[in-house]
Parts: sequence; structure tokens; C-alpha cells
Amino acid sequence: MSAPQLLGGRYEVGELLGRGGMAEVHLGHDARLSRPVAIKLLRSDLARDTSFLNRFRREAQSAAGLNHASIVAVYDSGEDRLVESGGATVPVPYIVMEYVEGQTLRELLNDRTRLEPAEAARITEGVLDALAYSHRMGIVHRDIKPANVMIGARGDIKVMDFGIARAVADANATMTQTQAVIGTAQYLSPEQAQGHHVDARSDLYSTGCLLFELLTGRPPFQADSPVAIAYQHVGQPPPRPSTLNPSVSPALDAVVLHSLAKDREARYQDATAFRIDLQAARLGRPISDAARGTAGTAPEATVAIGALGAAAAATTVLPSGASVAGGPGDPRAGNTASLPAIGHDPDDEPRRRRGLAYALLVLAVVGALVLLALAGKSYLDRPPETPAQVAVPSVVDKPVETAEAEIRAAGLVPESTQVASTKEVGDVVEQSPGGGEMAERNSRVQLSISAGPDTVDLPDLKDYSQDEARTALGNLNLKVGPITPVDDSGLDKGQVVSTTPGAGESVPVGSEVSLTVSSGKITAPDVVGKSRSEAAQILGDLGFRIKTEYVESSETEDSVTKQSIKEGQKVDDGTQIVLTVAQPPRPTQTTTAPPTTTTTTAPPTTTTGTTAPTTPPSETATATATPPAPVQTP
Ligand code: ATP
Ligand code: MG
Repeated sequence: MSAPQLLGGRYEVGELLGRGGMAEVHLGHDARLSRPVAIKLLRSDLARDTSFLNRFRREAQSAAGLNHASIVAVYDSGEDRLVESGGATVPVPYIVMEYVEGQTLRELLNDRTRLEPAEAARITEGVLDALAYSHRMGIVHRDIKPANVMIGARGDIKVMDFGIARAVADANATMTQTQAVIGTAQYLSPEQAQGHHVDARSDLYSTGCLLFELLTGRPPFQADSPVAIAYQHVGQPPPRPSTLNPSVSPALDAVVLHSLAKDREARYQDATAFRIDLQAARLGRPISDAARGTAGTAPEATVAIGALGAAAAATTVLPSGASVAGGPGDPRAGNTASLPAIGHDPDDEPRRRRGLAYALLVLAVVGALVLLALAGKSYLDRPPETPAQVAVPSVVDKPVETAEAEIRAAGLVPESTQVASTKEVGDVVEQSPGGGEMAERNSRVQLSISAGPDTVDLPDLKDYSQDEARTALGNLNLKVGPITPVDDSGLDKGQVVSTTPGAGESVPVGSEVSLTVSSGKITAPDVVGKSRSEAAQILGDLGFRIKTEYVESSETEDSVTKQSIKEGQKVDDGTQIVLTVAQPPRPTQTTTAPPTTTTTTAPPTTTTGTTAPTTPPSETATATATPPAPVQTP
């Protein structure tokens, strides 16, 4: 992409620092404040997608309000135009941000595979500081991943791209959406994977994934396709980090697993709680009961689900499970033995806990098999019965958290999806089944959650051809309303002059935008008496081609004495108008004295249209031609 060299008349664009899914980042120099900056330019192919454009702008603005040492500062954002080879211009929105001299965690991981637990924790604490702040400011990052965290030269942590992911997720173009998902599947929270609404706790899950990768060198879930990874986020327990890196302490294990709880209610509820625990684990102090609780149940859950998944081959599960419990060749037993002594609670006795865990595991598997057998038997024995019915609580207009809690309390399963609505963001717009209806216990209740009115900011379509405008509006899910031709717009025939509503206004998706387009007709104004340059300016702006002819006259020098097209006459854009311009009478003799009398003169007076070959050169528009020098008569 060939970027404009001086963006916004102020930022010099320098070397390429890196490329991402939707943009390229260049080193830049702010000429006004004389400091280095990083400039993110939207890729030119995406720059055509006007809905993407709008959101890029909006998100840039929301991120610009964040001011924190651990967040890459956004200084400015704007838009320049790039002239393509064909002559058409495309908008290039850009974000000017703090230049971080350092590398992203992605690059760090590429170099070092995995980090020391203490370092991994320290970095993640920095990320959590940034999130604690941004969440307080009401901004969910939505795309926490190693590529979006930089480590500065002095080891300082800088999180970037706040809210930008939203621009991607919200974009209309399916291609963009797919790319967005593919790009981030490994750090996607279960609720994001399911298309549910996102909140601050979703960022904490992604941070858990990031911490996992820093500790072990791999994200918690790996699979061939993003969809398979998304499934695992939703339904499969993550491995314990210590099984992949033995130097991870049980406390750190617990913190990671707690942050990765599938149900956001069961996770850390805010970034600060996560940070406090992480720091405690790093320093060998006791961690929260909540995290210990998750960790306590995790290994059984991990293996038990795996075992039940293989229930068809149940007989082989037990012996192998048993050998895991005590077998000397078990790698996990070895790991346990080599766990460092630091970072434990005094009463944390891994070997005994493991023993207990495996005993419980065996019990769990046996129990589950027995239950399965019993359930199957009784199910077969019994005549089918109608499942228990419960009354669905009415939750319309309630905030989503309250609504989901009430639905759960009634023995039902809430399933929330976001919809456009004029109701308060986060409130329930609709529910199905409705309040008061009866539904099977444990059945789903669909909740539509307001994502706010679905509006788009109307871009400035001036200069667009009608076709381009139609495409641009279509991309925004807007319709083209009545088209009115207007004269004298100064634009080429068919080009958009203005829109109603106007550029920059927020309009509801699906609504009509009416266009005024240039009719290509221009009306001649009266320019007689004006100076040549003034007349040329006026007529040029209107779209006339101007031809000037000079004639000796006693009128003010350089003033227009005649125009070939009369005032009020309508002609096509680009029509030539001949201006007759007064020139002082020239001398009749070959003296150096200024002329006083004129009888036979050159140039000759001209008639409109055709001119004698001796006439001075004609000029167009606002050309700076000066009247010709007086011709010496022989
Ligand atoms: P995505 O498009 O999903 O955000 P990404 O995060 O890898 O992907 P970008 O955010 O476009 O891509 O960043 C591209 C690269 O530019 C980064 O990997 C980083 O190397 C560099 N970079 C981005 N922002 C800065 C900055 N403020 N200072 C220095 N380098 C930066
Ligand atoms: Mg990025």
C-alpha cells in the first residue's frame, strides 16, 4: 500500500513496523510535536468497506479516551485520501499512537517458547492493570492476545488495540468477520465462541489463555480448525499448566484454571481479583478460596469427562485410571515429585492431594458408570413420563445479569443473544418462552439483549458516483432514497452533491438516504464588469471552460466587457464561455511612449466563437495568463 507521505498534514510516514489482520503499522514522526509515533493505517482493500471505515473511526475515538501507563496511548485519528492509479481516491483512516520500542508477546513467544513462571505472572499482571482501568472506563478489549501486548525496552507492559476488535466483529462483511474469528479463536472466551454478549469477564478469560501460553508455550486449546478450538473453549476443560511445564506451582495452576472457568460467573469477576491472586501465587502467598476451589475440582473433572466420553469402552478406563493413581511410570507422578517447594500453602500437599484426587477419580468413574447403568435400566423399565414443568419468570426490561440469574433460579437455562434495540444497552428486549408460560425444567429460555439502537454514521458521499454511493450505502445496510438532480454543483454530471441526512449523522440501519446529484447543468452568472481573474474564478468553479479575448477599450483595464453566454442561460458542464476583456488602447506609432490614440489596432475585436489567428492565447479556468504585451505595429 502506498500511503500518503504526510498524513493529516502533520505525520510523516516512515518504515513498516508490522502487519496485522486489518492494518499495517508504520513508524512515524509527528512534525508538530516533534516526537516519534506509530501510525496504524487501515488496509486499503478494507478501506472501501464504508461500514468498516465508520467503525474504525468510532473505535479509534473510544480507545483515545484511555489514559494509562499500561495502555498504548492513542494520540490522534483521522483520515486521508489515497489516490489510486486509476485516479479514484480511497479513504485511508489512520490511528496515531504512542510508539513502543520493543516487541509484542507474540514475537517474544516465537523467540523463547515459554517464560519463567514469575516473568509470565508479572507480564500478565501488567495486562490486568490495563484491563482493570479500561473496564472501569466501560471498555471491553475483546481481543486480548499476545500480538496485542507489547513489552517496552524497559520491560514495561503495553496493551493495545482496545475495542478495535469490535470494529472487526461488527463489520458487515462476512469475510472480515471470519478472519476476525480465525485470528483470535485461541483466546476466545466460551461466550464469545457462542456469540453471546461479551463483558469484562470475557477479557479475563482471554487473559487466562494468554497466561497459559506464557507459562507453557502453547495456548490451552489446539486443534486444526478455529471451529474445533471454539468447541473446546465451550466444552472441554483445559489441561493443568503444570502438566506441560513442571515448574508451574499448584497455586499458579489454580489461578490459571480459575480464570479459564467456562461459566463467567465461576471465573474471576474482575481484573483486580485476578491480579491479586496472580501476584500472591508469584510471591508464594495464599491465593483466594475461589481459585483453590476451582483447582480442587479441576483434575477430576478433566479426566472424568474424558473417561465418560469413552464410556463405550468403559472396561479399559478403570485399569488405566488405576495405574495413573499410583504407577511409578506415570509422568504426572514424576512432575508432582519435582514440584518446587515455593509457592505452596502450608497445608498444600500435592502428593497426598493427587492420591486423593485419583482415588476420587476412580470413585467418580465407577459411580458414573453405575449411575449410567442404573439410569439406562430405569429409563428402559419405566413408561415415559412428562418432565417437570416450571413457570418461566418474566424478565423483559431487566438487565441481562439479573435476567439470567432469575432464569437459572427457576431451573431454566438462559441463552442470550444481542439484538439491535432502542432499549437500554444490556436490557432484555424479548424472551421466549414468555413470562408466565410453563416450560420443561432445564430447557432453554432465549433472551434478546439490547445492543443499543443499530445506527450507522453516514459517511461523506460527496464526489461519489451514483453507483459508488449505492454500494457504499448498501454496505451500511442503508437504502438509496429519492435522487434529485441539482444544477450548478460544481461537480461532474451524476456525482453526489449531498445527502439527507447529512454526512456524519447517525441514522438507523435500513433507513433511506436521499441524494442530490449533479445534473451536469450550469447556469451562467453575470460577470460583466468584474476583473478577468475574478470572473475566471467564478466561472471555473461552476464548471465553465473559459476563453479570454482581449480588446482595446476605454473600460477599466482587465475587466470583462462581454460574455458569450448570457446570464441565466443553462448549458452543459464544461461548455466554453468566451470573455471579452478590456485592454488599454495601444500605440499606433513605433515610439516608446505610451499610446494615446488608436485608429488601427491589434488585436482585432473578436466575435464570439471564432477568433483571428493573431488573438492572444486563450486560457482556461483560473490560469494565470496575463494579458499579452502590446504588439509593436510596424
Ligand atoms: P490484529 O489485526 O488482529 O490486531 P496484530 O495485532 O498482529 O493483528 P496490528 O495491531 O496491526 O496487528 O500490529 C501489527 C504489528 O505492528 C504488531 O505486531 C507490532 O509489531 C507493530 N505495532 C503495532 N502497534 C505498535 C506500536 N504502538 N508501537 C510499535 N509497534 C507497533
Ligand atoms: Mg493488534
